[in-house]
Amino acid sequence: MADFWEESLTEQEGCLLQPFITNLDRPVFGLRNLPEVVKGALFSRYSRSDKSLRRILIDEFIKAPEASFANIVGEVANNNTAPLVSPPIEESGVAIQRAMSFYDRVLIGYGDDSVAELGGAHIACEGISNIAAKALENSRLGISPLEKSTRYVPFTRKINGRYRYYRESSIMASSHAERYEATLDHLFDTYTALIDPLLNWVQARTPRDTTTSERAYNNATKAKTLDLLRGLLPMATLTNVGLFGNGRAFEYLLVKLAASPHEEVRALGISMQQELDQIIPSFVKRAKTERGAQYAQYLRTNCERTELLAQKLLGQSDPASTPDTPTPGGSTEGTSARNWLLNGGDLHTGVSSSTVQLVEYDPDAEVKVVAAILYPHTDLTFEQIKEYVTGLSTTERVEIISTYVGERESRFHRPGRAFEETYYTFDILADLGAYRDLHRHRVLTQERQHYSVRHGYVVPIELEEANLAQPYRKALDYAAETTELISLDLPDAAQYVVPFAYRMRWRIKLNLREAYHLVELRSSRQGHPSYRIIAQEMHRQISAVHPTLVANMHFVDLNDYTLERLAAENAYSKRAMILERDIPQRKE
Ligand SMILES: Cc1cc2nc3c(=O)[nH]c(=O)nc-3n(C[C@H](O)[C@H](O)[C@H](O)COP(=O)(O)OP(=O)(O)OC[C@H]3O[C@@H](n4cnc5c(N)ncnc54)[C@H](O)[C@@H]3O)c2cc1C
Repeated sequence: MADFWEESLTEQEGCLLQPFITNLDRPVFGLRNLPEVVKGALFSRYSRSDKSLRRILIDEFIKAPEASFANIVGEVANNNTAPLVSPPIEESGVAIQRAMSFYDRVLIGYGDDSVAELGGAHIACEGISNIAAKALENSRLGISPLEKSTRYVPFTRKINGRYRYYRESSIMASSHAERYEATLDHLFDTYTALIDPLLNWVQARTPRDTTTSERAYNNATKAKTLDLLRGLLPMATLTNVGLFGNGRAFEYLLVKLAASPHEEVRALGISMQQELDQIIPSFVKRAKTERGAQYAQYLRTNCERTELLAQKLLGQSDPASTPDTPTPGGSTEGTSARNWLLNGGDLHTGVSSSTVQLVEYDPDAEVKVVAAILYPHTDLTFEQIKEYVTGLSTTERVEIISTYVGERESRFHRPGRAFEETYYTFDILADLGAYRDLHRHRVLTQERQHYSVRHGYVVPIELEEANLAQPYRKALDYAAETTELISLDLPDAAQYVVPFAYRMRWRIKLNLREAYHLVELRSSRQGHPSYRIIAQEMHRQISAVHPTLVANMHFVDLNDYTLERLAAENAYSKRAMILERDIPQRKE
């Protein structure tokens, strides 16, 4: 591999480089202990030079006075025998500022926006509402989020005697402030009060068997209880989100946050900019320039104008005047929020009250997918191969597909890119909790409607059986009245009140390859029932139109479970026992 590769470094150069390179004498190596901006600039020079990366680092950065390299990397550069310590944040921040113009020149010299993908940052956003969390997680390319779980963390803790939910500024400055707090307090009070009785009921219904450890059992039953109650949490619930992303993705995210109708989200964008400026300033600086502001304005104006136009063309989205199509299960969905309020009850009981409708698929999918499978292995055009495949029998096509997919031993054995040749569009009406979970998928298109109370809510059947549905409903009904009341004056802000149990409508367009991933992952036993049922339904509907294409979706789980987490917790207990056995435990 390295026949035509050489690296000639003096001993002194080797010493200088050693802290920053994982090896000095092989053609494959990694960078370490370098600030993001240096790595970005280094890589951008790489593509325009015949030198090796080590040579560029030595000649153009370490030895170039204008790069302020020693200042930027602090002790590491000054004393390479010392432990690899990063300079204090402030010092490093100042050094980065000083050297900025140098690195900017290198980066700009490259002339392509993609250079901003060469540096990344971890950012923690704490105490943000679910509205803001969803705005962050709406990013797809280049951002990896992780959010505090509603399954493992009870949202009961108060700070200074107050529940942790977002006090939205325009509501708090309005005559609705008192009502807003009373409603959200009531939701959190109900959530808190129901935990113990529901946990007792869950444990009574599914007693621990001898093969299950106490730890696994307690965790699984607690998770089940919190899953059942999450519907009471409003969109204002404060959460923590950690993001890792590259500079380019962050820059775009900052622009989108600045375009948000929510003041909280705009303020969050400004705070994120301040922090990113300390880590990857060169990569995100355009977000705060006039150009960034214009971009945000462009996005915001387009969204507002389109909304106005849609209202003009379609009228106010009042389900009373445009009832939804009844579902096969005979659900009463589509009754207006007004009627629903008048009726004073929930419309939907049980997790099956979501509707999943396959609204678009490609009738030529099979031909296209099979042609795409053959394409890389011939020298024919795609059109010629499609013509050939059209003449094949179903048996022949099935053979090609199963050869391509091979023996899948787990869901991680994913079919290849030929499965990206065809798309499915689903229109989904399901509870907000399910939306929050499925929205986390990125390799697809998802567009939602407003968070509202118009489509009624879902009461898990278990709450009925445990005789605990009444306080649950009462808190949700009260929240609906408050949402409607506030939305008369403050429609955007009113969305903070909407609890996760309420249903919303959104659209998912995904290719067959992502459908395999989403359906198999989201139908798995440990998943939440509200999205498991959506994944199962997606499988059923794709199977109905393209049976040959989903014939290899072996890891879809169509069963129903009473204690979803139990198998996973048991497996964890077994792994933990092995660890305890193999690794001597510290005695406290
Ligand atoms: C049981 C369960 C519990 C969960 N609990 C939590 C939780 O507590 N907190 C939380 O925040 N999330 C949680 N999630 C969500 C999870 O972290 C993922 O965000 C979500 O499942 C989307 O999956 P994905 O990234 O595989 O899929 P997609 O985003 O649809 O991506 C499809 C595939 O593309 C590839 N891909 C996509 N983007 C990237 C990228 N940036 N880098 C590398 N590869 C990429 C991966 O191979 C990925 O599997 C949970 C999910 C499940 C199923």
